[in-house]
Amino acid sequence: MKVNLCLKCQEKAVYHRKYSGENLCPNCFNNSLIEKTRKTISKYKMINYGDKVAIGVSGGKDSLALLDILIKIKEYKDFELIAITIDEGIANYREEAIEIALNAASKAGVKQVVLSFKELFNFGLDEALMNRKEKKITSCAICGPLRRRAIEIGAKKVGANIIATGHNLDDILQSFMINLFSGDVYRIKAGDPRKEAKKEFMIRRIKPFMEIYETEIAFYSFLNELRFQTLECPHMNEGIRTEIRNSLDNFENKHAGIKLSLIKSMFEICENIKLNPKQLQSCNICGYNSSSNPCSTCKTVEYISELTRSSSLENR
Ligand SMILES: [Zn+2]
Ligand SMILES: [Zn+2]
Repeated sequence: MKVNLCLKCQEKAVYHRKYSGENLCPNCFNNSLIEKTRKTISKYKMINYGDKVAIGVSGGKDSLALLDILIKIKEYKDFELIAITIDEGIANYREEAIEIALNAASKAGVKQVVLSFKELFNFGLDEALMNRKEKKITSCAICGPLRRRAIEIGAKKVGANIIATGHNLDDILQSFMINLFSGDVYRIKAGDPRKEAKKEFMIRRIKPFMEIYETEIAFYSFLNELRFQTLECPHMNEGIRTEIRNSLDNFENKHAGIKLSLIKSMFEICENIKLNPKQLQSCNICGYNSSSNPCSTCKTVEYISELTRSSSLENR
């Protein structure tokens, strides 16, 4: 049997990068991922000297790989890193993830803050879903904005000026397609992962894996024996995102590199859409910029709090 050799060092290759044709050994594969991440960070000026970066560490493979790679990049670039972990209150699921996240942060020597939905919003996710009357509001639609807000609160608490999350190329393309299919071009622009924080926002959100395939992050985690949670969220919503994910994977299998072309198109579209004029208002309750007032997070908190209150009255 023919053994493939690494394109860069002639060692035995373990990875074939289909879209470029490269065969890579473990060491060169690892370096290529670190280098890609470093390039994305520098191309979009995501992290500067002296920045304080709050990284959302959920215990899943993407956030743990990001933590691992940012620590390696930190050796050459001077910035501070703090891990933020959110306990959404999902029984028999979050406990393990939090334990994994705590271990990873302490092993990396990174300070960590754990915040729970319960302490921030007065209810956990399980409780919120139990009280939800209309099932058409999906669990992810409730959890997503709340987790985003929780990480923001955590970042402010530790004085960070940047929030880094492990969103990869696949995540970004799925959201892009969801917005495209729902006719919401303003959201495509709002979700541009390259955009810098507006002056009034203080905190910039960055996605250093935005140009990296999910499969490559999974392979990096495997090669580096990163321990991560494999259990799927019990509330995982089998909505259109799963269908889009499967279709995009099919396209990529037949036409290697098509995801990289798609993100180029997304960037091009972002540049040619005007900002939603409504986006410029700020929420009366929390002060965050939003296209509606109150913002969708404050509306969600209010909606769930109301349901939780009325159900505890009924149970009296
Ligand atoms: Zn090599
Ligand atoms: Zn608000």
